[in-house]
Amino acid sequence: MQTVTMKAVYFEEFGVLPVLREVPEPLLSAAGVIVRVEATGVCRSDWHGWLGHDTDIALPHVPGHELVGVIDAVGPLVRRFRVGQRVTVPFVCACGDCPECDAGNGQVCRNQTQPGFTHWGSYAERVALHNADVNLIAIPGDLDAGAAALLGCRFATSYRALVHQAGLQRRETLVVVGCGGVGLSAVMIGQALGATVIAVDISTDALDAATRVGAAHVVNSFGLGDAEVVQRIRALTPNGSGAQVSLEALGRENTVAIGIRSLATRGRHVQIGLLADDPRMPLGTVIARELTVLGSHGMPAHDYPALLELVVSGRLRPNDLISRRITLADAPAALAAMSTPGAPAGVTLIELD
Ligand SMILES: [Zn+2]
Ligand SMILES: [Zn+2]
Repeated sequence: MQTVTMKAVYFEEFGVLPVLREVPEPLLSAAGVIVRVEATGVCRSDWHGWLGHDTDIALPHVPGHELVGVIDAVGPLVRRFRVGQRVTVPFVCACGDCPECDAGNGQVCRNQTQPGFTHWGSYAERVALHNADVNLIAIPGDLDAGAAALLGCRFATSYRALVHQAGLQRRETLVVVGCGGVGLSAVMIGQALGATVIAVDISTDALDAATRVGAAHVVNSFGLGDAEVVQRIRALTPNGSGAQVSLEALGRENTVAIGIRSLATRGRHVQIGLLADDPRMPLGTVIARELTVLGSHGMPAHDYPALLELVVSGRLRPNDLISRRITLADAPAALAAMSTPGAPAGVTLIELD
């Protein structure tokens, strides 16, 4: 008998605790695949989506966008992938056929789809992924599931932000403001690129994790005024002149400003943290120091080989960021726990059977 349902974490109202239940199987698109989910990360974007902060989401909904799994079915137009292959996917899936995609910028594709946002995601036994030939990335069978899943969102986002957007160089100083999963990814990547990394957070646990994955210095900003935080960061840079690159991974107006004000002349700020409202920014400082403010939004699949090589060779170890491995049944509580401060440091990974 054909299976027509699967288990998934499902919600019908924003902000109401999701439930694990049987739902209809996802539909296979002609150029897409169905992937049997092996592992999926609990990312702050899932939490934003659950609370109704993302206008792409239609109810009812299944979250999840940071995944690794095995192809279960392929559409008739798919040429490069086959059933049984282990894959991950950038959370921004490109169409492959628009001006942005033609220019190699699928991460800002005008027709993009995002599992867990534009359609049901990977907190489920199976997930549909569209335009497979453009978006899938084959993953070696022996790579840790957590390392592979993190390539779908947080690790790739930080990699593109630092390497392709900010152009971080060896011996530069990098300030990472906010040490959740994406911030810790940036710390690890920055250190591997040969930068001196200063990690900033209000949580001792998060800063301990940052030190373990490569931060040379930490600033605990708990209870400090913003000017004091900036002063402490700058005091850790050569001659107090400021950092060359700042990355904000939290999404708050005052921490965006802290990142910008910590920069040396001609420094680059790259913004990853999502903000509910547009922030006021210290543009006077941007002008006077000739700073550059950059955004970064995922990474296109064709840029993955260089990152995957660093992960497969062990120079980058995304799995070291994973502090908890849970089951699908634990996922609703893990999502809800992100509403309260003091969540455990590091990344939570959902593993399926
Ligand atoms: Zn496109
Ligand atoms: Zn994410």
